Parts: sequence; structure tokens; C-alpha cells
Amino acid sequence: MKRETFSSPSDSIKAKSEDLPLTDKFGRPITDLRISITDRCNYKCVYCRTGNEGALYGDLPFEDYLRMTRVLVGMGVNKIRLTGGEPLLRKGVVEFVRELAQLRAPNGVRVRNEDPLDIALTTNGHLLADLAQPLKAAGLTRVTVSMDAVDPDRFTRITRVPGGYDHVLAGIRAARRAGLWPLKVNCVLMRGFNEDQIIPFGMFAREEGVTVRFIEFMPLEEGRTWSPNTVVTLDEILTRMAEYRPLVEIPHARSETARRYRFDDGVGEIGIIAPVSHPFCGHCSRIRITSDGKIRTCLVSVWDHDLHAQMRGGASDGELADFIRGVIQKKEERHHIGEPDFVPASRTMVHIGG
Ligand code: SAM
Repeated sequence: MKRETFSSPSDSIKAKSEDLPLTDKFGRPITDLRISITDRCNYKCVYCRTGNEGALYGDLPFEDYLRMTRVLVGMGVNKIRLTGGEPLLRKGVVEFVRELAQLRAPNGVRVRNEDPLDIALTTNGHLLADLAQPLKAAGLTRVTVSMDAVDPDRFTRITRVPGGYDHVLAGIRAARRAGLWPLKVNCVLMRGFNEDQIIPFGMFAREEGVTVRFIEFMPLEEGRTWSPNTVVTLDEILTRMAEYRPLVEIPHARSETARRYRFDDGVGEIGIIAPVSHPFCGHCSRIRITSDGKIRTCLVSVWDHDLHAQMRGGASDGELADFIRGVIQKKEERHHIGEPDFVPASRTMVHIGG
């Protein structure tokens, strides 16, 4: 498997990092925050959970996430993504988005004061049909919907929830009508479950006008069933899709996780997120806050950093910022997925937020 090396960060990252307030020790600017607002989920997708309910770490009042976010925005974070668990299960999510949309970076950080924050949401889409318009009105910028098959029966086999497919399709269409654009549909490919959905998803992207993004399966599932053989890789996706129509790569931003492609006739966009076969850790700009208020510096970290404990202990905003700066210096250089020395993450995806 190909692996990037980044023991010496590129000059462009170094040059940019000088005027950024929050930068890790490898010169990566940290501008992208993902907050899990609950670890409850109404689906039990095979690549994420077992069929059982599983343990929960719990969640925090929205005002606590808001304070954490305000401190981070003051340090240069300009992209926020709400995730979970299933974030739309959380009552009050629309009001929370409205409050987030009011946040502004103070003078002195690189983010231009007048720029609105980018506030995105990752959801399974089950409850999106009724919430898309209110979320847009509250200030949500974009939405990504997870959908792992375009065939309703297969969808049920993967999510373990009968009848979900129609809800999700309705959610995707409502998001488009609400102007939550660009609209992305994420599909995790897991061998034996849905690799035959690659071409149908290509057709879906063209017909629905959405960007379909295939994600390589990562060892973050509760059941610990991952092995290299279960991963449907970027190269395999391109080869399979070429049997339908060839894809042509188009430019993507350095910090973007997905490689971007268009079909050769210019209609329909496909993204491929390939953390296993083509890692992109060298450009990682993300940190995560779990639903119980812990910072995770990498999806597959073996430890968390308890930001909420600092708050409970009475830390001022300045002390929280110092704590965060210290944590950022511990951000891992890269992941070791697929290597003999790989140690599984201390939490699984449903407890981190993707
Ligand atoms: N419930 C929401 C949803 O379904 O999108 C948000 C949480 S979910 C954990 C976030 C993303 O992580 C989804 O796109 C999901 O497909 C992806 N995901 C979950 N487990 C994964 C795994 N083991 N490998 C790769 N992606 C995974």
C-alpha cells in the first residue's frame, strides 16, 4: 500500500503556518473541527456497529460545545462539522446551529472577521427531510448524507433498519431543495456487502446531481472485523467504475480528504476518500471533540484529551486555549493502519464521530 512521507513538511505548509495561530509540530494548520453531539445512533451499520445497542459515553449540554467551539474559532478554526452518533437525534440541533452561525473570530487571527464559518453536518439522513429547511435557515452551510447502497434491500442489510432507504432519499432531496449545497453522499465500501454498488452509485450521482464519495473501510468498527481484504481500495473503485464510464481526476484542495473525479463526459462528480491505500495525514487539518467533551487528534488515536474536565475544573477561556495548544502538539504524525505495529483506536467510530 502506498504511503505518504511527511517527516519534513512541504514549504507551502511551513509558509502558511507562520501566520496561523493553531499549528501542530509538523507544521499542519488546524482549521477544521468535528464535534460529535451524541453517540446515540438509530442505525447499526455493519461497518460501524454490532447488531447490539452497545455502551454509550453520553453527551453534553449544547452550551458546553458552544463554548469549546468559540475558543477554537478564536484560535483559527473556520470549519465546523456536526456529527455523531446520529446528530439529528439530538433535540435542539437547529438552535445549536443558529448559535454556531453567530460565532465570529476575534481580530488577530487569520480568519477574516467578516467571513461566515463553514458549518456542515454529517447525517444518516433518516430524519433530514423535515429538518433540512430549518437547518438551512439557521445557518447550516452544507450537509453530507451517508448512504451505502442504492438498492433498498441492500440498504436494510447494511443499516439493519427496515424501511430506512425511502427516508434517506427523501432527506437527500429535501436538502437539495433547501439549498444545502454542495450535497455529498458518503458510501463506505466493505467487501462482501456493497462493492457491487459502485456502478449504481455512479448512475445515482449523475441522475441526482449529488457528489457521491466512496470511503475506504477503516478499522474503527465495534465488531473488530476489519482486515486489509475487507477494504475496497481507490484503485479497485476506479477500475470498476471504468466498466461503466471512465473517471477523470480533477483538482482538489490540499486539506480535502477526497480525491475528486468527473465522468469523461463532464456529468457527475465522484470523490474517493482513501485513508488506507492512499493516506493523506500529511495535510490533515482536523481535530475532533467527542460527545463527552474529549479532544481526539486523530481518528485512530489511542488516547483522548479531556477538555470538558478542564471546563468543569473552572478553566478560563485562555486556560482552555492553552490546554488545546498543548494537545495539538501531541497530534500524531500519521496513522499506522494496515501496518504490523497498528494499535486499534481507543474508541470506535460511533463514539468518535466521523
Ligand atoms: N450518523 C451519521 C452518519 O451516518 O453519517 C454521522 C456519524 S458516522 C460515524 C460518520 C461517517 O463515518 C459516515 O459517513 C460513516 O459512513 C463513516 N464510517 C463509520 N464507520 C466507518 C468505518 N469503519 N470506516 C470508514 N468510515 C466509517
